[in-house]
Amino acid sequence: MSCNVILLEHTPRADSLVAAAARLCYSGGTAGELAARSSEETDEAQARFLAGLWKSGHHSPLEHASFTFGVDGLSRVASHQLVRHRVASYSQQSQRYVKMGQSGAAVVTPPSVSSNPQALLIFQRQAEASLSAYEELCALGVPAEDARFILPHGWETRLVFTMNARELHHFFALRLCRRAQWEIQSLARQMLRLVRVTAPLLFRVSGPSCVTGQCSEARPCGKPYADMEDLLAQQ
Ligand SMILES: Cc1cc2nc3c(=O)[nH]c(=O)nc-3n(C[C@H](O)[C@H](O)[C@H](O)COP(=O)(O)OP(=O)(O)OC[C@H]3O[C@@H](n4cnc5c(N)ncnc54)[C@H](O)[C@@H]3O)c2cc1C
Repeated sequence: MSCNVILLEHTPRADSLVAAAARLCYSGGTAGELAARSSEETDEAQARFLAGLWKSGHHSPLEHASFTFGVDGLSRVASHQLVRHRVASYSQQSQRYVKMGQSGAAVVTPPSVSSNPQALLIFQRQAEASLSAYEELCALGVPAEDARFILPHGWETRLVFTMNARELHHFFALRLCRRAQWEIQSLARQMLRLVRVTAPLLFRVSGPSCVTGQCSEARPCGKPYADMEDLLAQQ
């Protein structure tokens, strides 16, 4: 089961804003002049400039462009990994204030479980037993913030989070690697597809090291992505 991600808000004209900010560093022009010039550049000229900026290591202009996502149906297993990325802002549904289980045992089922009928039976039985125990504890007057201790790690959660373009490149490099956990790979891939619509030049090339250069993994997966299309075509 895969989570559902939407892009709630983003910096308008992020490609040309980042290029204008970077040009300011190397030019005598005012910010207004450079922004006007930047918005008139052809896509190819802008893409060349942004690629050169990235290659040079001058990455801070990318921090001017930010992207806010909403995600549903992500497990707490994956959200725990997501929030390890510190250069971001997060709001997560509270299990203290929101009663869980209003629509059944909302647990993310890993593909290795859903594809194995026997494993699926065990998994669902345990998820439902946990939910029953949670509900019984709540009925006994145990506060939701304490009853939740019995819920599985795979329980679904919801978040709104914001990352800037520099952090997104870092996130995609780590989390789109085939060696990253399957659910966070799926989240990252959906996010990359979304930002490529609004900032196609900034994210023309973004992802694990096999796509942006040479694999840097100590234990390579042995199945490097051929290119961006190959990376984006996966589920
Ligand atoms: C495949 C994989 C396996 C992992 N396994 C484990 C695991 O077993 N156990 C575990 O605990 N974690 C694990 N992690 C999480 C990992 O250690 C990082 O916490 C997580 O990927 C966030 O990365 P980050 O710190 O680079 O990113 P961010 O927090 O987003 O930071 C971005 C960049 O900002 C800079 N930065 C941010 N904060 C600081 C700071 N305080 N000081 C200096 N520089 C800073 C760094 O350059 C950093 O790379 C794993 C991650 C991956 C991708």
